Amino acid sequence: MGLREYREKRDFEKTAEPKGEIGMGEGSIYVIQKHTATHLHYDLRLEMDGVLKSWAIPKEPPTTPGVRRLAVQVEDHPIEYANFEGTIPEGEYGAGMVEIWDRGTYRMIDRKEDKLIVEINGNKLKGVYILLRFKNQKNWLFFKKK
Ligand code: MN
Repeated sequence: MGLREYREKRDFEKTAEPKGEIGMGEGSIYVIQKHTATHLHYDLRLEMDGVLKSWAIPKEPPTTPGVRRLAVQVEDHPIEYANFEGTIPEGEYGAGMVEIWDRGTYRMIDRKEDKLIVEINGNKLKGVYILLRFKNQKNWLFFKKK
């Protein structure tokens, strides 16, 4: 996906979000940003392929097994976005407040087109999590493994 869609959606003269570059190598950043936009949601980001693969989760991410959350895949974000907190101005894409809700590292256990298994080591989320994609959609399920 790269960063084209990310950059097209934003006016970097107006927002303090990073323009960013594609990173090198395989990092292990895990972060969830609470985004108080028109609709409050939680942005899950995992470093993969030199970018942050990103999903918007409409409800609080699960800390225990048995809770399944919809996670809508959104455009890849630059690595530096993992540190971004602040207010995106009114009228700009994603206008509202962004704050880091949880962060840490993760380890990829298995990666397939429609299923990711990751071990998350954050402050709030800890343990093995699964992202399961609905057939040919941007919609995934995100849940903690039993
Ligand atoms: Mn968001």
